[in-house]
Order: sequence, then structure tokens, then C-alpha cells
Amino acid sequence: MKTDPDVIVIGAGGGGPVIAKELGELGINVLVLESGPWYGNKKWPEPNENRGEVKTSSDPGDLDGLLYRSQLTRLENDMNDFVSGKFRWGSTDRRRTPWYRNIPDQAILWQTAGIGGSTIHYYANSPRAFPDAINNEWPISYDELIPYYEKVEATLPVEFAPTTTKDALFYFGAEKAGFSLNKTLDATTKGFRPQPNAILPPNQHLMDPNYSMEELSHMEGCTLSGHCGQGCPYGPTYEKMAKRSTNVSYVPLAMKTGNVSFRPNTFVTKVLTEKNANGNDHATGVQVRDTWTGEIEECRAKVVVMAAGCIETPRLWRNSDLPYNPWVGRGLTNHYMDMVTGTFDEKTLMDIVGSSTVNPFVGHTSSARLDYPGLGMIEIIGESPGLSAQSLFGFSQSGYNRLHPSDSSLWDGRGRLVGSELEEAMEAYRRTLTLSIITDDEVQFRNRVELDPHIKDEHGAVPRVHYTPSEKSKQRREQLAKIATNILRKAGAKKVHRTDLPPNYFIHLQSTMRMGFVVDGSCEAYQVERLFIADNSADYNSLGGPNPTATTQALATRTAELLADKYF
Ligand SMILES: Cc1cc2nc3c(=O)[nH]c(=O)nc-3n(C[C@H](O)[C@H](O)[C@H](O)COP(=O)(O)OP(=O)(O)OC[C@H]3O[C@@H](n4cnc5c(N)ncnc54)[C@H](O)[C@@H]3O)c2cc1C
Repeated sequence: MKTDPDVIVIGAGGGGPVIAKELGELGINVLVLESGPWYGNKKWPEPNENRGEVKTSSDPGDLDGLLYRSQLTRLENDMNDFVSGKFRWGSTDRRRTPWYRNIPDQAILWQTAGIGGSTIHYYANSPRAFPDAINNEWPISYDELIPYYEKVEATLPVEFAPTTTKDALFYFGAEKAGFSLNKTLDATTKGFRPQPNAILPPNQHLMDPNYSMEELSHMEGCTLSGHCGQGCPYGPTYEKMAKRSTNVSYVPLAMKTGNVSFRPNTFVTKVLTEKNANGNDHATGVQVRDTWTGEIEECRAKVVVMAAGCIETPRLWRNSDLPYNPWVGRGLTNHYMDMVTGTFDEKTLMDIVGSSTVNPFVGHTSSARLDYPGLGMIEIIGESPGLSAQSLFGFSQSGYNRLHPSDSSLWDGRGRLVGSELEEAMEAYRRTLTLSIITDDEVQFRNRVELDPHIKDEHGAVPRVHYTPSEKSKQRREQLAKIATNILRKAGAKKVHRTDLPPNYFIHLQSTMRMGFVVDGSCEAYQVERLFIADNSADYNSLGGPNPTATTQALATRTAELLADKYF
């Protein structure tokens, strides 16, 4: 006998598993449909090689930490290659091409398909929004969000990042640049602080020579090995992995309720609706396509939740021919990012941090931050060498550094490094500190996700993405780049290189289905009853600069409550 779920959730990334777990705990039956693979589930022992024997998994006993560890090889290219890596945006079968997005400009649009979604390789920074960016702008107040932030912070859990060499150097520079420690979760003034990260505290035996590295990596707690970007397969069991991506945190908790099933390798191609007696549209289910077999079927439910991320949620709305709303897909923000990298000499480092290297990869990948309400924020990025070479020195709107000798007294170089310049920069990699600039990005109607009128793939018209920052966002980014450079100089950097990232560098995608325009204050669509949103797209704005996921998770927790009250 086939029983339809009460609720279908589309997408198991930053938001989907959160609402699924909360609804499951309320006794509501949920089916989560996810387009990508499931790493670490015994039902799919070779997830990239074949489709497995079953379609869904709901038993927490299916989750296997050792399997997860064998599949997340930690090899940068195997995991992160945009075309064929396990964390790519594309089908589970790696022999196939990635799923196409048309972005007419120079771009990186970094998202992952799979149970855990883009949180599989995120840095786990989990700050709250800036209160001033919520109050007086969003239809709901910051105070309303606080209990939900608290619940998310306790569930993941979120802890302040431990201090490693790169953080000590950053704090030293930030203090010399005139900033002070901001001891708060609710940042209303500027200041630096350790990142509130969804990463377990360090393993207590980390410095004990009686334990080998291998032994430590099977124990509870962060190993400080810097593999956040490669998924972090470190811990005694699947659900105790140190970095708290949703696949290892919320997914097992959802399964434990006994009310939630997850189905990977399933792409939702249409949201199905019917007319009510009063003539309004309401969601009744979805049409899906099995990404291995191409088989198409329909699943029915009383409520549908879209949590497919900022590109696919509006794409799906439009491909489903849901009612026209000019704001669907509009208002895209991305924190208009940039990077500056300081290179230090050994003596300076010895004097300041007592070590001749920074070793940026040691510790949490992003472990300390400077909040600057009104402008955005600055945070440390300690990527592994391959990703550093790519994003710090390989991708820029300035073109090749060599072709335009420094145009500013602030930076020794700007733009792409190649050949001997790149070799030199990477030889000094262990003595670098990189700061990422994350701008309070203004919402603009022109920035958008729309359907490409000419190109379709197996899931319908593909998304076309346009983003150009506003003048205000550009000015804020310039100011932050100068502040970050000053911090590096004050810390003793001998050279500072500015990446000058192109505007279409998409890591923090937000606000394409904005609250107050497409969804109401409870995240239900104005034009389609029983259709909710629980991903970054429901954000009214870019939160003032803070990383978005914790706010999405707080909102999803709140939405579960409101949805359950209204319909169950
Ligand atoms: C390198 C990197 C580092 C980051 N670090 C941080 C950080 O430290 N802190 C932070 O807050 N944010 C960080 N982010 C951003 C973070 O990953 C996102 O904010 C978060 O994952 C967004 O959650 P989401 O649910 O909106 O989308 P996603 O996590 O992208 O999830 C969407 C899910 O839906 C699935 N899906 C899409 N379409 C369909 C469909 N039609 N049918 C079925 N399934 C579908 C996708 O496969 C995916 O699993 C980082 C991102 C990157 C790339």
C-alpha cells in the first residue's frame, strides 16, 4: 500500500533537513526529495557507480561513518572539481556532464548536489544576521528570530572557533588597526571575534603524543586538519562528524523521529497545484525524475516545501508555470566578495606568533571574523593549497596582474597570477594570511535568476543568472578591502595581493524569493497555498553581511512551527 507523505520537502541542503526534522518531531510524515547522491549511507555503497537497490532511506542504522570516510577522500580535485568532483552541481553519475547554468559573465557558481547540499563543503560559519539588517527591513523582527537561532545553535551545535596561528595573527593585526573584541552573538557594533562555527570543539587529546593521527581522526572532536572544504569525515560515527553539515547533524535527527524519509537521486521537475473551492491555487505534490533511470513519476502531499536553493527554487517555480510574480527569481544578492592575501616573512612571524609559518590550512578553514555593521564583514579564509591557488590567484576581474603593474599604493599586486608569479606566491603559501571581504550587498531588482528561453536540459529550461552590484555595494566592498589590507599591514605583512574577484562569484546566494514579495512572514507563498520555502531564497536581504545558513536554519525551524499550526 502506498501512503502519501503529509509534507514533501524539495532539497536536502542548508534548509531542507532542518524543516524535515522539526516537522518529524511534531509527528508529521515527511518525504525529502534530493537531486544528488547520499554519501555514507549503506543503501548506496557505491553512490557514483550505480543507482542502488532501493529509492529511500529512513532508518538511522543505514548511516555509516566508515563508509562516509572512504567516499570523502579529502583529495581536493576528487572532491571539489567543478566539472567531475563529488561535490559538483550535477548528477550522481560522474561520467555525465554537470548540470548547466547559463551565466553570461565570468563566474563561479558554487553549489553541491547531494544529501547535505552545499553545507557538505561549507566552512560551517554560523553567525546570526546583523540585528539592524532585520529590524525595520524584514516583515519580522530580529527578536522573533532569537529563540530559533538558539535552537539551531544548540542542535548543530555552534561553538566559538579555537585560536590557531592564523587567528592569533589576525587578532594582533585587528587590534593594532584599532578594533576590539566583540563578545556577542548579536553584533550591533564593529569588532572582531572568533567565528561561531558549527564544528565540534577540538579533540581533547590532540596534543597527546600517545595517540596517532589516525586514532585521533576516529575520535570525537575537531582535528584542526583544515579539511572543512573537503567535507570533514572525522569522527567516531556518521552523526558525530566534527563539521556539522546538515547530512551529519539534522538528517540523522530527522530519521530518528521515525517520520522522515530521504530519497536521493531524485530531481523535482514540477510543483503540482489545483484550484481550491475559493479559486486559489494550492500545492498538491510534485513531479520527479529519477536521475539514474530517467523514470518520471508524481508524488502527492498536503503541503510542499521548496528548499532547492536560490537558483533552483525560482527555476522550479517558473518551470512549473506557477502564478506570475515579478519578484520570483529577482533580488539576487551574493555578498559581492573579494579577497586580500598578506605574505609575511619568517622573522616577523616569529616575533608576533612565535612560529616561522602561518600554515593557513591548520584549524577551522574560516575561524575568525571582523563584523562591521553598515559595510559587511571580513573573515579569515585558510583554504587548502589547490583551492587557494584557484580562488585567490586564478580568478579576477582585473585580468593578469603582470599586465598592469600595481595601480595602487595599497596593494603590491592585483589580479591573476600565472607562471613564475604564481609559483612564487604558492611557495610562500605557508606564510600567508588571507582575508575574505563579504559585503552588505544591496538588493537590486535587476539581479536575477530567470529561465533561459533557448536552452533546456532533462529537467526543463535551464536557469540564466545575472548579477551586477549596486554602486553602494561597490563602495562598501572598496572600504572593506582597504580595512582588511590595513589589518594585514598592521599585522606585519610584507606584501599584500588583492584578488579583485569578479562580481559573479556565488557562494552566499540569497534573496531570490524574498519574504514580503514572494512569501509572507511565515514563508508561505502569497499566490499558492500550502507551498512554503525553507532555503536562502526566502531572505529579504543579505543580512547585512553575515554568512546566511544559520539564519536560513532559524527561519526553517520557525516555518515548521507555523506550517504545522496552520495545516496539521
Ligand atoms: C565554499 C563554500 C563555503 C561556504 N561556507 C559557508 C559558511 O561558512 N557559512 C554559511 O552560512 N554559508 C556558507 N556557504 C553557503 C552555504 O553553503 C549556503 O548558505 C547553504 O548551503 C544554503 O542552503 P540552501 O538550502 O539554500 O541551498 P543548498 O545547500 O544548495 O541546498 C539545496 C539542495 O537542493 C537540491 N536541489 C536543487 N534543486 C532540486 C530539485 N529540483 N529537486 C531536488 N533537489 C534539488 C540540491 O541538490 C541541494 O542539495 C558556503 C558555500 C560555499 C560554496
